[in-house]
Amino acid sequence: MISLNQVSKSFAGTRVVDDVSFSVPEGAFLVLLGPSGCGKSTMLRMLAGLEQPTGGQIRFGDMLVADGGSGFALPPARRDAGLVFQSYALWPHMTVAGNIDWPLKVARLPAEERRARIAEAMEMLGITQLAQRYPGEISGGQQQRVALARMIAPRPKVMLFDEPLSNLDATLRVEMRFELLKVHAATGATSVYVTHDQVEAMTMASHVAVMNHGRIEQFDAPERLLAEPSSAFVAGFVGTPA
Ligand code: ATP
Ligand code: MG
Repeated sequence: MISLNQVSKSFAGTRVVDDVSFSVPEGAFLVLLGPSGCGKSTMLRMLAGLEQPTGGQIRFGDMLVADGGSGFALPPARRDAGLVFQSYALWPHMTVAGNIDWPLKVARLPAEERRARIAEAMEMLGITQLAQRYPGEISGGQQQRVALARMIAPRPKVMLFDEPLSNLDATLRVEMRFELLKVHAATGATSVYVTHDQVEAMTMASHVAVMNHGRIEQFDAPERLLAEPSSAFVAGFVGTPA
């Protein structure tokens, strides 16, 4: 459902993503795993449309979303993709319900439909009771749930996550892994999840792309990475606890 063909990205002549090709089917939970600076966020930002590849093509299903060669890029809003970052970036002056409503308003959905979707998203993330609170009045973990609810409410076909759990404490992080997988399964979307946490990758992924210096070292199912790492880098990185 998501396919990349020889995608690269350079900043001022330096290649930070180098000739990346892979594809994952609809409903996959792809984890991009690798050390700091290896190009994970840049990959995700290209999928979201916040960066344009220097070369290669990105497709969502049959739809070409970016082509480095021709410079074609579908605008972010037309990609049917939702993005959640490490910092939750909620609107401080809007209630929880207002935050979730925002992208629905932008999409000009009728009020009735918006109300139903807000209720559904809050229910899915277990935050219904927080609807009228402001972001400053809820915990970090709760804010994270609101950010996730806001992302899923427009029902994107592609969900993009950039280290969404790294600000949470260890217990909450483990709990949220399961919440996230539940949401992923319930929506039927295709997810791409960036992390440098090996345990997170191994427990959540259907497919893992291990990245190093902008390249994919190995692309495989998590159990295959453990059983048959293709390089010493993969073995070392995957085998080391977070
Ligand atoms: P981390 O785990 O620390 O978040 P990452 O794998 O997400 O790292 P990226 O943010 O994709 O890494 O960065 C990859 C490389 O590209 C880094 O060397 C970074 O400094 C460089 N880079 C990223 N964005 C830009 C930019 N806008 N301009 C110049 N260089 C950039
Ligand atoms: Mg990053």
